[in-house]
Amino acid sequence: MNTQAKNLQHPFEKTLGAGPYRFVGAVQIRKPTATSMDNYKSCYDAAGPRFVTGMGTCAHCGMAIMNVFLVEIGNGDVFGVGCDCIGKVGMAPQEIRKVDATVKKWNKEKQTLKAFNARADLEEMIESQAEVLGKLPHPMDFEGKSLLDYAVYMDRCAGSAGKQRAVKVIKKAMAI
Ligand SMILES: [Zn+2]
Repeated sequence: MNTQAKNLQHPFEKTLGAGPYRFVGAVQIRKPTATSMDNYKSCYDAAGPRFVTGMGTCAHCGMAIMNVFLVEIGNGDVFGVGCDCIGKVGMAPQEIRKVDATVKKWNKEKQTLKAFNARADLEEMIESQAEVLGKLPHPMDFEGKSLLDYAVYMDRCAGSAGKQRAVKVIKKAMAI
């Protein structure tokens, strides 16, 4: 190998093996829950039979990772790497676009989950804490209105960001 070829050596050459490198999917390891074993199994299933290593620990840098990007190397073996290292792959632009699309999808799912949780929290508060909320003042001090009126209004009318804010406001008011 001449000097020029050596300089062009990709950082993954030493850790994963020779390229070319291809993005073949991504999985998210969930925080431990009752169903986490199912999640773990589905992560391995998604990685396929050629998966070597990298589920939870980046195969390139050794960092602990929850978001695992699957890279196929030249010989067909598949490795898991983290979001920083996937950028080192030097893949074709269409591969990088697939990575970006995955990250975007994950972020959207996270937002949806947050909104879903805020709504559930708000409704749970209204149902189980109605009496307490009814005695507390409205956060904007609306005449004759209580924190319960605020909670009901926000549950009915607020968007997802508003609901998330309302949960915080109510929790803070109740802690007094
Ligand atoms: Zn890494």
